[in-house]
Amino acid sequence: MSKKVFLDPGHGGHDSGAVGNGLKEKDIVLKIATYARDFLSTNYDGVSIRMSRNSDTFVSLSKRTTDANNWGANVYISIHVNAASSPSATGYEDYIWNGNVSQSTKDLQNSIHREMAKVFKSFRNRGKKRANFHVLRESRMSAVLTESLFITNQNDAAFLKKDSNLKKIAEHLAIGIAKYFNLSKKSPSTQPSNSNSVPSGGTYTVKSGDTLTKIAKKHGTTVDELVRLNNISNPNLIRVNQILRLPGGPVYHIVKRGDTVSKLASQYGSTQNQIKNWNKLKDINLIRVGEKLRVK
Ligand SMILES: [Zn+2]
Repeated sequence: MSKKVFLDPGHGGHDSGAVGNGLKEKDIVLKIATYARDFLSTNYDGVSIRMSRNSDTFVSLSKRTTDANNWGANVYISIHVNAASSPSATGYEDYIWNGNVSQSTKDLQNSIHREMAKVFKSFRNRGKKRANFHVLRESRMSAVLTESLFITNQNDAAFLKKDSNLKKIAEHLAIGIAKYFNLSKKSPSTQPSNSNSVPSGGTYTVKSGDTLTKIAKKHGTTVDELVRLNNISNPNLIRVNQILRLPGGPVYHIVKRGDTVSKLASQYGSTQNQIKNWNKLKDINLIRVGEKLRVK
């Protein structure tokens, strides 16, 4: 089972977050999250990544934590930069919830803090902190919120203005996460699988402007299905000219005694949710013997 990392760049859309020295927090944190996502998926095996947003859009706090909870993320990483009324405030700090947290939450903070301290050697280390932030409290997995420097401090902002520094922050954040999970590094020979078996549903070559959502819609499938069929570690990252396998046509199953949606899902390589949606089931625990269900 791959580890599920939920990256949450703070703010977005009409919510700029902190503003100062010509910078907006929402832009900086989106870059850090995107670089961290790419670094993790390029360099490590056994990790899948989702982001609370991957463009400049507003997402409510409750939607962020609900998305992570519903996905079953293993860790929740909220990415922010700090601000203060005093322009002299400076440095790095990170947070976990100030309620009851597991040892693994503390381990995650320790691992991230250790790596981030390497990036911010020449800045003040404000330490490992705890607070009652929504994303830390309402996420059901180990959660850490990072505050990488003060946008309101001239020296800090100068550092944040350089993309090369944002990459550095992102890479160390990613390394902190990878070390926490003990993820194994990808071997350089690992190529995206170019299987020559022709799937029943054929293939699709990604064109410029495509998204998995668009492709899924066009071919009557779901993003989840495409992700599963193509071993995609990051649904937000598909390349132009990438060849995607498409699922075959629908497969039906007549419900026998003892069948459950969960059994059928694993038997046909679908998900319980897909079976639920295809058959418009109100309750997946209520299927009748003799009922014809679409299972793939
Ligand atoms: Zn913020």
